[in-house]
Amino acid sequence: MSAKILDGTKIANDIRSEVAAEVASMAASGVRPGLAVVLVGHNPASEIYVRGKVKACQEVSLYSEQHTPPETATTADLLALIERLNRRDDIDGILLQLPLPAQVDAKKILIAVDPAKDVDGFHPVNVGFLSTQRPGLVPCTPAGVIEILNRSNIPIAGQEAVVVGRSDIVGKPAAMLLLNLNATVTVCHSKTRDLPAVCRRADILVAAIGRAGMITRDFVKPGATVIDVGMNKVTDPGEFARLFAGNAKRVETFRAKGSTLVGDVHPEVTETAGAITPVPGGVGPLTIAMLMFNTVKAARMRRGHGVPEMAHL
Ligand code: NAP
Repeated sequence: MSAKILDGTKIANDIRSEVAAEVASMAASGVRPGLAVVLVGHNPASEIYVRGKVKACQEVSLYSEQHTPPETATTADLLALIERLNRRDDIDGILLQLPLPAQVDAKKILIAVDPAKDVDGFHPVNVGFLSTQRPGLVPCTPAGVIEILNRSNIPIAGQEAVVVGRSDIVGKPAAMLLLNLNATVTVCHSKTRDLPAVCRRADILVAAIGRAGMITRDFVKPGATVIDVGMNKVTDPGEFARLFAGNAKRVETFRAKGSTLVGDVHPEVTETAGAITPVPGGVGPLTIAMLMFNTVKAARMRRGHGVPEMAHL
């Protein structure tokens, strides 16, 4: 039996419409939430991500501006910029596009962002709010994982959830959100013994590893929900064949572009899982939608208006 495909693009569009409605209602009371994106130097992938974020802001009528310090920027330069943005009342969210150049002390910069404007949810204050179940700003990708589950009516409370990956950006906050929603959570990593057996316990399996197609069918309990956070570019023909042999559409794309995007979950898992997010079109679109959501959330919370009603977080 083939798994139900959880359509991240549709869910992200629903969230964007809800954000646009919230922005319109805030505009009626004279408030326009604003996002400042800081992009240091010229990293082509980062430039694409930032363009996508700025375009998304425009589509929901959020104010946005870009700051593009040169590749040679120092820690002191960036601290000064963050301080200026922290002080501005028209800026509700500050997004620092990572990675930063090697000479910059990234941890020092991230901790300088006002936690009330930390729309990435990476500041230790927001990490603390999440782990103690207080309202705060939650990292966008894990927040998107929860939106997919909730809006697909997949129960979380009482379920066995296994998260593979323990990064500060995805794995750990995803595990904390699932725990806060009363799942029984196991977090796995590169030192976990017998990973397939641990994963097979999962009713909800979240893969945030960064290894193309690593989660094969023997990691998945039949009927489980599988959330594939991975985004891996495959260019090696042998690797491509392991993942997509016989998939005419992918073969065509691979031939034309010389690469294809694949998650951490092998496509064969579609035959075992009960529900699964595709790559592309699963978790990816949620990340930007949740950034828009967090900007509105920050704008409301900074003005003492409380968390927007649509938040499950
Ligand atoms: P990361 O910081 O590299 O963390 C990867 C995690 O996977 C680590 O905890 C690592 O364990 C674990 N891991 C690596 N190899 C493993 C193995 N063989 N067995 C078990 N665990 C293993 O990556 P990340 O930033 O969390 O990102 C994970 C994936 O999500 C990447 O593909 C990334 O591109 C994607 N991503 C997607 C979005 C989106 O919008 N869809 C956003 C962010 C990230 P150790 O801790 O032991 O090293």
